[in-house]
Amino acid sequence: MDPITSNVSLFDLNKLTLNFNNKATEREFRKEYFQKSLPVFRLSFITVTILYAAFGLLDYATTEVFYKSFYMVRYFIVLPVLLATFFFSFHRHFEKYWQFLLSVCFVISGSGILYMLLINPENIYYYGGMFLVFMAGYFFIKLRFFPAIIPGAILIIIYNIAALVLYKLNHAEYYHIVAANAFYISANIIGVIALYNIERLERVEFYQKAILFKKQLEISDINKNLEAQVEERTKLLDDRNVKLMAEIESRKKIGTELIKSKEKAEESDRLKSTFLATMSHELRTPLNAIIGFSDLMSSDFELDEILGFAKTINTNGNHLLSIVNDLMDISLIESGQMVIIEKTVNLKSFFADLSEVVNYEAQNAKKEHVALKFVSPSLDDDIILKTDSSKLKQVLLNLIKNALKFTHFGAIVYGFEFYKIDRKEFVKFFVKDSGIGIPKNKQDLIFDIFRQVEDCNTREYGGTGIGLSISKKITNKLGGEIWLESEVGVGSTFYFTIPRNPQNSPDIKSEQDIDKKPLLNKKRKKTVLVVEDVESSFEYLQVLLKRWGLHTIWARNGEISIDIIKEKPEIDLVLMDINMPGINGLDATAEIKKINPLVPVIAQTAYAISGDREKCLEAGCDDYLSKPIKQELLKSKIQKYLGLN
Ligand code: ADP
Repeated sequence: MDPITSNVSLFDLNKLTLNFNNKATEREFRKEYFQKSLPVFRLSFITVTILYAAFGLLDYATTEVFYKSFYMVRYFIVLPVLLATFFFSFHRHFEKYWQFLLSVCFVISGSGILYMLLINPENIYYYGGMFLVFMAGYFFIKLRFFPAIIPGAILIIIYNIAALVLYKLNHAEYYHIVAANAFYISANIIGVIALYNIERLERVEFYQKAILFKKQLEISDINKNLEAQVEERTKLLDDRNVKLMAEIESRKKIGTELIKSKEKAEESDRLKSTFLATMSHELRTPLNAIIGFSDLMSSDFELDEILGFAKTINTNGNHLLSIVNDLMDISLIESGQMVIIEKTVNLKSFFADLSEVVNYEAQNAKKEHVALKFVSPSLDDDIILKTDSSKLKQVLLNLIKNALKFTHFGAIVYGFEFYKIDRKEFVKFFVKDSGIGIPKNKQDLIFDIFRQVEDCNTREYGGTGIGLSISKKITNKLGGEIWLESEVGVGSTFYFTIPRNPQNSPDIKSEQDIDKKPLLNKKRKKTVLVVEDVESSFEYLQVLLKRWGLHTIWARNGEISIDIIKEKPEIDLVLMDINMPGINGLDATAEIKKINPLVPVIAQTAYAISGDREKCLEAGCDDYLSKPIKQELLKSKIQKYLGLN
């Protein structure tokens, strides 16, 4: 069932008065009815008034005898009341009284006609006039049903009372009264029923409209609610979208990072393989020579040839050693254990030492035809720096060795100059060559570990790709930078800086100075205690010491060495291996120094890492040698402590 109709069936009216039982609804209805009816009322009411006045024109024609009294009633009583009501309709209080006033107008205008009718009952036109009054009262002037019944009934009552009184006085015929009553009562019944239905329909319409309005309000509320919900959902979705976008972005980022890591992993995998191939090549090449030539030595060869083999073995051994040193350095650097030991360095003696090594390297590399030149600001005065001289030497030598390797003709110029950045003073070292040069796109890359310009297996120059990486790390550790300028086919210049840190009073002398100390007592045959757990190492030392006229005693470990020192106070020097099973060299030295504080102890270690020398000196050793032990160096140390020819 339609909800509106269902509501209408519940629609709560007083069946008699047609009033809504709900007072507020009734008030609303009356208000709306008034507003809707007012213009119609005015038009119909003024029409009725005009007609009432116009019908007065017939009075004289139809009732010649009484027309004056009729005029009086019509123009001086009824019409003023109608006009007054019409004008009052423009007043704001009209709404309050309008139904009452219309009922009064209905009664007065009806009474006027009744008066004329009763004065002259023979005049049939006034019966019709009375019909018009009833019609106007019920259907025209917007009287509501209930207010209309009352004037209708009053008029019939007035008519009957007045008719009875007047007819009695005039001895008139009573059939007029009966006939008139029959018509007027019928007219009233028709009017009442019709008006009842009209008003009822009006009220139904009002009620339906009210319900419709209520429903519309409900719908608009629901709509608003829906809109709010949609808005909320949209916001929620927007928020989710934003989160989703962020998520997608972060996933994308993770994806790119993953791809990058994958590429990096692949690259490092490739580098690892290249490195292994390179390493294998670099280690096997000198080993090949060493093993090959040492095999040949046992065969029948002339002494000259054997000496040549020995030289080749030595050169290759040195090359192997430099690779091992590089590997040691890089592993120390990578594990963060590289120690920088700063001491005052006199650049003049530093370069004097270095140039000897450089010349030796040039000879070794068979680059005699490549000119070597050292360039510097005036070295008349000592230039003193505070830095780690061995590290400085390592970087410079590495750059010079590279220059020698990659230069086939022309010159290599190395040296230093002073350099200022933001008022900070630096020493800028350089190595300039006229070699093959480095392409622009490889210039940053070659400082990375294991990276070379030629990254493939068909390498012409050899090398491990470690040297520049070590140099860069060392330079940074020393507080400087390293960079290069290079052009393919023209040459390269490598630069690096270290802070100048000038020192006024040099507290060291160069090793050369130290080594030139006067020789000690040369008369007695000296005894050297060699503390060494590896027999071949001992044998090597024994051969050398014997050649220099020294007597050798061998202690296989730390404990034995302590015992020997206790038993033989004549021992002149101890060569102490550091890494031994049982008591290590450092502890043994400490013990020996307790027993015989005057005996010099020279430590020898295969570790050769930075800081080792300092550790040995701290334990009481007088000096330090790293393995493999070079003849010349050992000799100079022994000379220093024993004095040899
Ligand atoms: P290695 O020399 O053992 O290969 P480095 O790290 O010292 O390792 O050098 C890396 C690479 O940089 C070399 O393989 C070479 O390709 C390039 N390079 C270094 N110095 C020079 C130079 N002076 N001239 C041309 N190329 C050089």
